[in-house]
Amino acid sequence: MKYSLIIHGGCGQVNKFTKTQQKAFLKSLKTIISAGGKYLKKGKSALETVEYCVQLLEDDPLYNAGRGSVLSNKGKVEMDASIMDGSNLKAGAVAGISKIKNPVSLARQVMDQTPHVLIIGQEAMEFAKKMKAPKKPVSYFITAKREKQLLDAKKKGYFGLDHGSKTGTVGAVAMDSNGNIAAATSTGGMVNKRYGRVGDSALIGCGTYADNQTCGISCTGIGEDFIRTSLAKHTSDLILHKGYTAKKAATEAIKHFKKRISGYGGIIMIDHKGKPAEAFSTEGMIRAWVEEGSKPVCKLF
Ligand code: ASP
Repeated sequence: MKYSLIIHGGCGQVNKFTKTQQKAFLKSLKTIISAGGKYLKKGKSALETVEYCVQLLEDDPLYNAGRGSVLSNKGKVEMDASIMDGSNLKAGAVAGISKIKNPVSLARQVMDQTPHVLIIGQEAMEFAKKMKAPKKPVSYFITAKREKQLLDAKKKGYFGLDHGSKTGTVGAVAMDSNGNIAAATSTGGMVNKRYGRVGDSALIGCGTYADNQTCGISCTGIGEDFIRTSLAKHTSDLILHKGYTAKKAATEAIKHFKKRISGYGGIIMIDHKGKPAEAFSTEGMIRAWVEEGSKPVCKLF
């Protein structure tokens, strides 16, 4: 099989970005998609590649994941992440965690080291300690931009996507040359969210899904909308039951999402033939993809 990779850095009012901000996102996307493409070319698996790409996105404070995560109504960072292996339908996830440098890797350890799929809050932190997951002080995660964003949100009574203020949740989907598919998503959640709220990014079938027989998917947008429509699994089912291509499945899924509940968000995916696709109901979505033998493509709209 030919390998392929698609990543996202969130969706929303990307049209309100300044030129400088647009350039910064495009530069970051280009670096990360190129690094991910090289990783697959070297023979790394889809699973290793999505974890690697999401780590790079988490480490970049431009995005709402890992370093640079948005703040909850208590001024805290509470991160969610998940990962799924389409070859065996194994999955791992964490929710409501702090101080962990790379939440996606802790999700991977939940998958690899426990019989469970999702571990939350304090228990997840204890598990991280056992796994010796790299930690960082709170100051590493919280940027001045996020503190100001929370103050503004509180003044306006705003609860919402980070992308009004121009960044977002991250995700990656890959197919390796063995035809295996994997997907991963990581987020700080929504600005001014209720302390303890968990979004779609931690939930398999909602924000993340992967099955070699259908596709891999990572979602971004209002988490509650994705949970209420189980959109990642819904999209996979369109391929399973209707035989849609990636493009058709993505388009139809977002159509359903919008029509049924005025859903606000976007998805990236790769189908079982290795074809990447994306669709969104938002003004824009920060995304990039690469297919074996072609140059990477980076897009904001
Ligand atoms: N889906 C994420 C959440 O609801 C937010 C985002 O995509 O930016 O937690």
